[in-house]
Amino acid sequence: MDSRPHIVVVEDEASQRQLLVGYLEKQNFRVSGADGGPALRKLIERELPALVLLDVGLPGEDGFALARWLRERSGRIGVIMVTAASETVDRIVGLETGADDYIAKPFEPRELLARVKSVLRRSAGAAPTTGTRVRMGRRVLDLERRTLADPGNGSEETLAASEFDLLKVFAENPNRPLNRDWLLEVTAHREMEAYDRAIDLRITRLRKKIEIDPAHPDAIRTVRGVGYMFVPPKD
Ligand code: CA
Repeated sequence: MDSRPHIVVVEDEASQRQLLVGYLEKQNFRVSGADGGPALRKLIERELPALVLLDVGLPGEDGFALARWLRERSGRIGVIMVTAASETVDRIVGLETGADDYIAKPFEPRELLARVKSVLRRSAGAAPTTGTRVRMGRRVLDLERRTLADPGNGSEETLAASEFDLLKVFAENPNRPLNRDWLLEVTAHREMEAYDRAIDLRITRLRKKIEIDPAHPDAIRTVRGVGYMFVPPKD
């Protein structure tokens, strides 16, 4: 698998989009272009990128709305707003949209690169999954080897793709309520069995594996009206 950071460039103007995609590709990032909200949503369903470069002036849903939507999905995606000179910047960064930074057109490619690198560094630093092992309940998820280890007896279990995908999303989004429909979208496995598609069934199976007491789940909690939330062990 390609381990380079994945950046999505959302820009409705084709020539500008291609310019940015080409420039970032030359800097050795993996880059996808999207011409607006619908294309961005499609990309996000497949994979959470490391960073999204978001043009503010888009037809349909504007960049602000998309930034908020991204933030509801994951705190780990870096967001840089790209603004036209005429747009006021005070509402861009901060709590209102959740963007990490902004850059005003026209900008120097080098300035953009510096901001991209800085946001990527910050989001990597904020990542809850430092390293590849994440404690979940009484087990430890190994993100590289796709296994679930039991420190109690040293045993290790290889996870089915459908189970691994779901635990990985939880591991990457601790303490964040995750919407059930969204979980289904981002973890729907290629060879979809009806069985694997049901989030609730998968959660039940995973709770049996990782919870100390599956009848009273503590690691993967139910969030009423939303879905589920992973809560890392306290100590
Ligand atoms: Ca535009």
